[in-house]
Amino acid sequence: MKAIVFQQHGGPEVLQFTEAPTPTIRPGEVLVRVKACALNHLDLWVRRGLPGVPIPLPHIPGSDVAGEVAEVGADVTTVRPGQKVVLAPGVTCGKCPACISGHDNRCRTFTNLGYLIDGGCAEFVKVPEVNCLPYPENLSFEQAASIPLVFQTAWHMLLARAELQPGEDVLILGAGSGVGTAAIQIAKFFGARVIATASSQEKLDKAKELGADHLINHKTQKIREEVRRITGKRGVDVVFEHVGTATWDDSIASLAAGGRLVTCGATTGYDAKLDLRLLFAKQLSLLGSYMGTKSELHSVLRLVAAGRFRPIIDRVFPLSEAAAAHAYLESGAQFGKVVLQV
Ligand SMILES: [Zn+2]
Repeated sequence: MKAIVFQQHGGPEVLQFTEAPTPTIRPGEVLVRVKACALNHLDLWVRRGLPGVPIPLPHIPGSDVAGEVAEVGADVTTVRPGQKVVLAPGVTCGKCPACISGHDNRCRTFTNLGYLIDGGCAEFVKVPEVNCLPYPENLSFEQAASIPLVFQTAWHMLLARAELQPGEDVLILGAGSGVGTAAIQIAKFFGARVIATASSQEKLDKAKELGADHLINHKTQKIREEVRRITGKRGVDVVFEHVGTATWDDSIASLAAGGRLVTCGATTGYDAKLDLRLLFAKQLSLLGSYMGTKSELHSVLRLVAAGRFRPIIDRVFPLSEAAAAHAYLESGAQFGKVVLQV
């Protein structure tokens, strides 16, 4: 099959469009003919290489897949060849206490398609049967592939971790990112007031279209001062973080008493300082969040099929131009998802 493969870590130039063996499936697995694979920041980290993470080489990246079932293993009962599917990115053991209690994103063997196992930047990818999710028929393959990772992440952060309540104020950083566009829609759906930040007026205009109530241009305005002004000096109940070092101080300073900061990433760096006096005196909560559960993704997809959430696509590249797509995502110019068409 044709695939994007890298033999060594490095810049976008290590991505080769080449031939790779078509995966062979086991009895409980499904072979999926990939139609679209959406990129995430995770793809950039995996390509560059992460200290202490032994990514097997050569490697096929890509976590977010939509396609059609090509072949099913002997034990598979819930999908059949020809059926359209969108895939849950998280692959887990399915047997441990975390998995059977529905907290599969806490499984000790958790990995993503394209992380420690081969992913969807290829004509075919194999997955456990349980990763095949109902396809929202109102979406194109490119749109469907843009849903799973960012929507499950934003859902898990806002609902499972930060326990967002109707009427609360939420500060969503990096509104132009995939996870930001998902978070705005989810927070609005659950009745929150959304303050969104982005680096340009164009991105802020799009964030407003998605439902953001207040906008902060973090290139020209100070986030903490604008939050103070918008909330009448109170601060926000929830800060939605994924930026890291560049925004951390503003994020902490923007929290109201009893506020919760939830983070899923550190795009600009992972060193952060914390004044412990603020933590206890303002009774703040700092919450880590990683991916989401398959059950949450089922909820997300029902709402997508009902037209309540929509994927935001910035640009589609052919699979053969994966290196250009990576470079584009790395530039930070996008609003929403960058997708590879297979
Ligand atoms: Zn498990």
